[in-house]
Amino acid sequence: MKLSKRAESLQPSATLAITSKAKQLKAEGIDVIGFGAGEPDFATPGSIVNAAIKSLEAGETHYTPVGGSPALKSAICDFIKREYGLEYSAAEVTASCGAKHTLFNIFMALLDEGDEVVIPAPYWVSYPEQVALAGGVPVIAEVSEGEDFLLTPEILEATLTPKTKAVVLNSPSNPSGAMLDADRLAGIAGVLEGRDIVVISDDIYHKLVYEGEFVSILSVAPALKDRVIIVNGVSKTYAMTGWRIGFAAGPKNIISAMEKIQGQSTSNPTSFAQRGAIEALIGDQSCVAEMVDTFKKRRQLLVDSLNAIDKVTCAMPTGAFYAFPSIAAYVGAKFGETVINDSMDIAAFLLEEAKVAVVPGTPFGAPMNMRLSYATSDNNIIEGVRRIREAFGKLEF
Ligand code: PMP
Ligand code: GLU
Repeated sequence: MKLSKRAESLQPSATLAITSKAKQLKAEGIDVIGFGAGEPDFATPGSIVNAAIKSLEAGETHYTPVGGSPALKSAICDFIKREYGLEYSAAEVTASCGAKHTLFNIFMALLDEGDEVVIPAPYWVSYPEQVALAGGVPVIAEVSEGEDFLLTPEILEATLTPKTKAVVLNSPSNPSGAMLDADRLAGIAGVLEGRDIVVISDDIYHKLVYEGEFVSILSVAPALKDRVIIVNGVSKTYAMTGWRIGFAAGPKNIISAMEKIQGQSTSNPTSFAQRGAIEALIGDQSCVAEMVDTFKKRRQLLVDSLNAIDKVTCAMPTGAFYAFPSIAAYVGAKFGETVINDSMDIAAFLLEEAKVAVVPGTPFGAPMNMRLSYATSDNNIIEGVRRIREAFGKLEF
């Protein structure tokens, strides 16, 4: 049977593929060290788990309103007030099955055939695919490593056309861990002034920051509030990736269009997971500081040991839990008959030779880099990087 053009042209998620490949090899008894994980390796904090158990015991096992229960919407509003200092009403927020789903609803709600969405590269793998699924055209804004992989106002200006409908900002960034500061955001806001372009601000890593402070575009340009959609969720901040709760705050008409779309696709996010999310968002926040502290130490360990490998350079990421070293100096190197052309070849070589799983930069729009998640133990970081160094030592020029 012939599948739809939509299904046939869609790329599978490389991040999910690598993570499941590493898990599968481990289950087969192969000693693989996985740096693929886009999820905290910590258990979900007990208070959150208990809130969901209580919810199940109380019989909260039925449909809720599509965009989340009134209690969840109220918790989201409180969270946004606390974290951003911004007031949103229940009609201006909505919850879905993970921030990935939130983003999908946004693109479905905003885009007509041919509408363009500016996506700075390197980007999280799902943005261009979701834009294309919704009939839009992803327009990649090439950002250089020299600019710390961050969008500049000039690059943004150069990518805008009369068809630009939206721009995606993701700070701290997956995959680079780089973070937009207030000056840069003010410059970006300046370019968008007077233009009818929506800003999709994916802030899913906003609490996982190790230097400086997270700044929202709405702090530097409050006048954009009727055109900015904040996307956030509980997956990364509270180690809740499997719970599938994400949310958005933004203009009422976009939020209600997202709920209409969700009402004809998934309906509400899981009822008792909503209770866990409420506890996460407005309960005791000390678990976050503990996780951030651990990630910060691992970040140093991973980045220092990567930089100690001959010809590898790795910038210090300010947020998220990824290192994104350049492997450009290894392009053209050989292993036997095999020539290394880009990060796809490097990732395949490392999995085969070193039994180390990394995510190649290519599906993030950065073919000369690779992504390593430090959501893994110190021992794995030490042993994994030792194996990478040993394998790179076997490459010949
Ligand atoms: N945005 C970015 C940048 C991400 O890395 C992720 C990770 N999955 C998401 C959104 C979606 O997160 P989730 O669907 O688990 O809430
Ligand atoms: N966002 C995470 C990652 O980049 C999790 C996997 C996914 O949803 O893409 O690895």
